Amino acid sequence: MTTTLADCRALDAQDPLRALRDQFTLPEGVLYLDGNSLGVLPKAAPARIAEVVTKEWGEGLIRSWNTASWFDLPQRLGDKVARLIGAAPGEVVCTDSTSVNLYKVLFAALSQQKASGRKLVVSERSNFPTDLYIAESLCRERGFTLKLIDASELQGPNSALTDEVAVLMLTHVNYRTGAMHDMKAVTAAAHAVGALTVWDLAHSAGAVPVALNDSNADYAIGCGYKYLNGGPGAPAFAWVNTKHAGQFEQPLSGWWGHAAPFEFTPHYRPAPGVGRYLCGTQPVIALAGLECGLDTVLAAEAFNGTGGAMAALRTKSLALTDLFIRLIEERCAGQGLSLVTPRDHALRGSQVCLSRQNLEEPQSGSGAYAIVQALIARGVIGDYRAGDSQMPDILRFGFTPLYLGFEDVWNAVEHFVQVLETGEWRRAEFNRKNAVT
Ligand SMILES: *Cc1c(COP(=O)(O)O)cnc(C)c1O
Repeated sequence: MTTTLADCRALDAQDPLRALRDQFTLPEGVLYLDGNSLGVLPKAAPARIAEVVTKEWGEGLIRSWNTASWFDLPQRLGDKVARLIGAAPGEVVCTDSTSVNLYKVLFAALSQQKASGRKLVVSERSNFPTDLYIAESLCRERGFTLKLIDASELQGPNSALTDEVAVLMLTHVNYRTGAMHDMKAVTAAAHAVGALTVWDLAHSAGAVPVALNDSNADYAIGCGYKYLNGGPGAPAFAWVNTKHAGQFEQPLSGWWGHAAPFEFTPHYRPAPGVGRYLCGTQPVIALAGLECGLDTVLAAEAFNGTGGAMAALRTKSLALTDLFIRLIEERCAGQGLSLVTPRDHALRGSQVCLSRQNLEEPQSGSGAYAIVQALIARGVIGDYRAGDSQMPDILRFGFTPLYLGFEDVWNAVEHFVQVLETGEWRRAEFNRKNAVT
């Protein structure tokens, strides 16, 4: 039996998380399937940011470092992130960008492995480019070699995990495909050959349950402006396993990572634990926006006593992505679409990615870019990621259970059907490339 609009409405009526949507300002007429790129605006953010600007900055001035607790923001927000990624209080700081934090944690992991003589950093060919670019330059500078593999090479008799590997650097949920690694199993396999692990949680934090301590991971970083709804360019976060606390090096040894910054001593003495991952003065206004975003995710804790926010959100996230896959397959059959994201729940993040074979005019490309543009013009906002000789063009749709409902999924697919069946996407206006896709 095929799925109907009435079925979707019934799912919304039974959805215990429905009220969480009221935490957001969503523009009229928009179906937002891009919370994996930039999360939506929390209702609380404009007033909170205005308060930080006019009261804490305008009136409190320099006193606000103490009176408004500006000084503790990276740690206080880090404790909130910790609740979403299976870490403990005091293990996470919110600071800098994901790229910069990756530089810091990868540097630390490489330093720890220096005496071992191991020379390889292993990552996935399909990892997010900034991760590979940062690793490339660090490897060059520190005398390591970056080896790029496919996920399948992490297992089996010819596994790329050998005793030459210093660090395995992976993104937990792949940005292009939505495929998710088994963090615990992969970490164990890396440790079995003596490698350290660096996990990028950019598409995991706020999207899927993460268990850093239970997985015995070594280092992790993640993004504040995607599923954590922290606002454009929001500070990212960094985590380090407490077993490394006190021994890892921070290459950007600025005064905010000093054990006692206001003693103004001439020599660097790192703060204990993850506090040393701070570098310079923190972006207070941006951190205030991030806190509003974190609170929208943590609000889901009220719906699951023991499993935390992410257990409650995960159930709905999988129901949304399952529904989207089912509706696309039922209603867009014969349009050349294929599912790129794994069907297996254990291997799927909170996004669904499709590729397209242009059955009528194979020579003129997949049409994926233009289809996404036509959908955006109808208010269905997803995104497009270009392919190359090894990977297909991708139509990418992120599902944020905090504010998306089942009828939204129905409506998005309805637009999708119309864009394909009318050939609307062939219009010239949808085939011109913008600077940001
Ligand atoms: C989004 C994303 C980033 C973003 O890095 P910035 O420094 O914030 O630009 C990094 N890595 C991955 C895997 C991402 O998905």
